[in-house]
Amino acid sequence: MTDGVLDRLDPQQRRAVTLPPGHALVLAGAGSGKTRVLTHRIAWLIEREGVDPGAILAVTFTNKAAREMRERLAQLVVPAAVDGQRGVWLGTFHSIAHRLLRRHATEAGLPTAFQILDAADQLALVKRLLKRLAVPEAMVAPRELVGFINAHKERGERPEELAPQGARGQLFLTLWQEYEAACAREGVVDFAELLLRALELLHRNETLRAHYRQRFQHVLVDEFQDTNPLQYRWLQQLACDVATGEVGAWLFCVGDDDQAIYGFRGAMSALLARFQQEYQAELVRLERNYRSAGNILAAANAIIANNASRLGKKLVTDRGEGEPIRTFEAMDEGQEAQFVVDEIGALIRDGWSADEIAVLYRTNAMSRVFEHHLLAAGIPYRVYGGVRFFDRAEIKHAIAYLRLLVLPDDTNALLRVINVPARGIGAKTVEQLLAAAESEGHWEAAVNKLGGRGGAAVQRFAALIDELRDATATLPLPDAIALVIEKSGLQALFAEEATRDRAAREERLENLAALVDAGHEFVTEMAREGITATGHEMLTLFLQHAALESGEMQAGSHERAVRLMTVHAAKGLEFGAVFLVGLEDGVFPHENALPNFGGDGAGLEEERRLMYVAVTRAKERLYLSWAASRFWHGASRYRPVSRFVTEIPETLLLPLSGRKPRAPGWDAESSAASSPPSAHTSGDRPGSSWQPGQAVRHPKFGEGVILQVEGSGVHQQATVRFGPSVGVKRLLLSVAKLEAL
Ligand code: ATP
Ligand code: MG
Repeated sequence: MTDGVLDRLDPQQRRAVTLPPGHALVLAGAGSGKTRVLTHRIAWLIEREGVDPGAILAVTFTNKAAREMRERLAQLVVPAAVDGQRGVWLGTFHSIAHRLLRRHATEAGLPTAFQILDAADQLALVKRLLKRLAVPEAMVAPRELVGFINAHKERGERPEELAPQGARGQLFLTLWQEYEAACAREGVVDFAELLLRALELLHRNETLRAHYRQRFQHVLVDEFQDTNPLQYRWLQQLACDVATGEVGAWLFCVGDDDQAIYGFRGAMSALLARFQQEYQAELVRLERNYRSAGNILAAANAIIANNASRLGKKLVTDRGEGEPIRTFEAMDEGQEAQFVVDEIGALIRDGWSADEIAVLYRTNAMSRVFEHHLLAAGIPYRVYGGVRFFDRAEIKHAIAYLRLLVLPDDTNALLRVINVPARGIGAKTVEQLLAAAESEGHWEAAVNKLGGRGGAAVQRFAALIDELRDATATLPLPDAIALVIEKSGLQALFAEEATRDRAAREERLENLAALVDAGHEFVTEMAREGITATGHEMLTLFLQHAALESGEMQAGSHERAVRLMTVHAAKGLEFGAVFLVGLEDGVFPHENALPNFGGDGAGLEEERRLMYVAVTRAKERLYLSWAASRFWHGASRYRPVSRFVTEIPETLLLPLSGRKPRAPGWDAESSAASSPPSAHTSGDRPGSSWQPGQAVRHPKFGEGVILQVEGSGVHQQATVRFGPSVGVKRLLLSVAKLEAL
């Protein structure tokens, strides 16, 4: 931290970064530099206070955020401090819990090759369980059971501790116990279990707890408002106890109660206040927003002011008002998408980099229509949080084969690939196999019990797995992956699809090749962390990593492509220009949160916080759009504009759609290029004669309409739309011989 990093912080931020040892809470609004403070505090602790990097643990909300923080830190401190076994521990609650369990699998009662169930795997396991126990899905919906299990675990509860309520309560409890037994048999843990196990490990094992309380002197948590009670209890295990003086880590938490958007997952922003009291945490507020232009911040503040339950913060910027917020009312979702894509095209032509532009929506399904129009316009884009890499079918198939090599009892994996590619193993044979496996304790041991053609096919499958297991035992990870993709028959299967659907085939084969690349990257990453496992040991680590990364956006986000994602996925991120789409009441706020759909006020406040998060992602330019009619859940719905838009003072808004044409030839309805004046245009500046909306004639291009005027003096430029054969041009006004009409 030689180049005076503290200089690039304002006084409040500097105070937070340099607080003396003690618990602390930084409570501040969006874009005020919370994440920056957290990163700089780590650097400050290492460089100025001489704290051993290995004594620092930092918790981020996503794996991607952890990677970014690692990169930032590497620039601030000696790189070795963030790499290697003795470097800072950086990751999500889940990845840190996983790291602990990996180190202490035996103490935690897990097999060393334990694997992680992602959300889809968990649901599949529950469905299988209900089927085996002959509980009809009409009686217990699989998703309901999953929700029940997760909710209890997230509160830190175990089935044995619960008193069943009524017959149904008893049934759920029994099913939960059966579920746990199945997980134990197969050697798998779900996401909530990762946290709960890690918590119990520290809670019950005095020696380990003492070890980690001693080891970690500083624990720093970003996005603290979305911490759930289980994660909070986990932090408590490590924290220095202010009541007793028992040694432990100092907690440094940063958060914003107005951005708490995971209430539905059990996160509680109430923990902010509780933490401050319980740990007598020093409270620091940051009041300057460095991200968004004034108008955007004013809109965000106006929206969130409608929430009753707030801790209360103020946020100012000295960046100036910036541009007005552009709004667009479309007739339907197709017109909305066309508007957004045209406007994105215009921004890119104006010199914006595609990766500085984001389209944000309330639910994943809304990305499709935007993708369609972006594709047609030839604009590169990337969807985050749709079907993610590790969730793709072909990748899950390959992963399932790999899992069977290290964790033979993983029944989800077995069922996924036993007949992919087709080997003539039907549902009946599979049922017989599972039944036999129950008495033998293991499906591979049961293989010989099956007769007939199906039995022979199962035997061949078992032999294949066995052969692959041997062949990969000592291979480097990427080679092992490549071998399995080939020998399993997956490669041939997807290559064969060529005749039917070329594009799909190529994408699938490319994805499989990318899995090999992911293996390469993983080995390098592990080496940086000082882990040099080989053979199946490395494979096990890789598979655990794949499960942790599923359900999250992919790495490699440096490419120049427009970002498409849900508002939830955009948390903590920032973009030059943001298109916030689908702003209709019932879409955003979501209908589940509206009182007439049975929602309560709390749900609406959470939606409003989500809106606050969305708006505050924008740095310079913000577009809000909605459609009068939208195809939604199978039918066209007509909904009013979102109440959140009406909560923004009209003076901040600039409608791009409107019934009134602004000037002759002004086609206000149709096009994106019809950008009206931005705040820094010269339209209202005295002495400037050119106005947006003005009709003009150019000696070469003919008649046109000024869309936008920017800059001043000799640099003043106008964007002018001419006739269809000419299109939109940007002209330097001091040079172009424009004539007013
Ligand atoms: P969010 O609540 O959305 O997570 P945040 O409070 O974590 O936001 P940061 O992402 O840390 O805010 O910072 C927002 C932006 O402001 C970043 O681009 C950051 O680099 C910049 N920034 C923060 N502090 C300063 C500063 N003192 N000087 C200049 N830029 C700053
Ligand atoms: Mg942040």
